[in-house]
Amino acid sequence: MLSSGSDGNATLVASGDSSLLIDAGLSLIELTRRMEIARTGPYALDAVLISHDHYDHVKGAVPLCRRTGVPLYASRATIKASGLTRALPAGQVRELRPDTPFGVAGLTVTPFAVPHDTFTVGFTISDGEATVGLATDLGSVTLDVLSHLAGCDVLVLESNHDEDMLERGPYPPHLKRRIGSPLGHLSNADTAELVRSLGHPGLRHLVLAHLSRTNNRPELPLQAAGEALGECGGEVSVSLGWHDHPGELIVV
Ligand SMILES: [Zn+2]
Ligand SMILES: [Zn+2]
Repeated sequence: MLSSGSDGNATLVASGDSSLLIDAGLSLIELTRRMEIARTGPYALDAVLISHDHYDHVKGAVPLCRRTGVPLYASRATIKASGLTRALPAGQVRELRPDTPFGVAGLTVTPFAVPHDTFTVGFTISDGEATVGLATDLGSVTLDVLSHLAGCDVLVLESNHDEDMLERGPYPPHLKRRIGSPLGHLSNADTAELVRSLGHPGLRHLVLAHLSRTNNRPELPLQAAGEALGECGGEVSVSLGWHDHPGELIVV
C-alpha cells in the first residue's frame, strides 16, 4: 500500500512484469515518489483501477493516466461522477462491471459491489497462482462481499475506526452517523468479524487499511484482527496501511 486512509489511497499489485495500481488518491508527484520507494514508477503500470469517486481515491488518476497513457478502469458511475471521459482521451477510460472478470496484462481482475455512500467496488486480482482481495471503503459486509473475498491468499481490508472513539470523538453528529452507518466505513469490530468469516488455512497476509487518524489507534485493529485470526488457525502475517509512507512489501 503506497498510501492508505482519508488523505489518499493507492495500492500497487504486481506479478512478474505486470503491475496494477488500485486507486490513485495522491498527487502525481507523491504517487511517483512512493512508487520509486517501491522500486517502480508510473510508466511500469499496465492499468489504473479506481474503486469509487471519492477524492481520496481518484485525486491523482487523471494526471497519472494523462502523463503515462495507461488505461483507467472504473465503473460507469465513477466515470460519470469524476468526469473521467472528459478528462482523458477516448479509449483510455474503460468501464468495468461488478461480477464481470476481465484480463489486464495476464492478471484477472474481478470487481464486486460493496456498500458505501457512493457506488463503490472492491477487487480480487489473480495471476492464476495467488489471489489478492481488496475492499477498503465499505460500511457493511454482504454475502456478495464474503463470497468474492473467500479463499484469497492476501486480504486488504478496511479497519476504519474504533466505535467508542468515534462516538466520543470530535466529529459532528452527522459525520459520526455517516461513518458508522451501513454505507460508511467498517469499524475494528466489524473487520474482526469479517476476518473471522474469511479466515482459512491458505490466507497468508492481512493488511488493515483506511485507518482513521482521529478515531483509531494502530494497536486497536491489530489486536481485534489478531484475536479473530487466532480463532481461525494458520499462519497469517498482519500489517497496516499508512497515510504518510508506503506499507510493508508483501510477497506471496
Ligand atoms: Zn476512502
Ligand atoms: Zn469512500
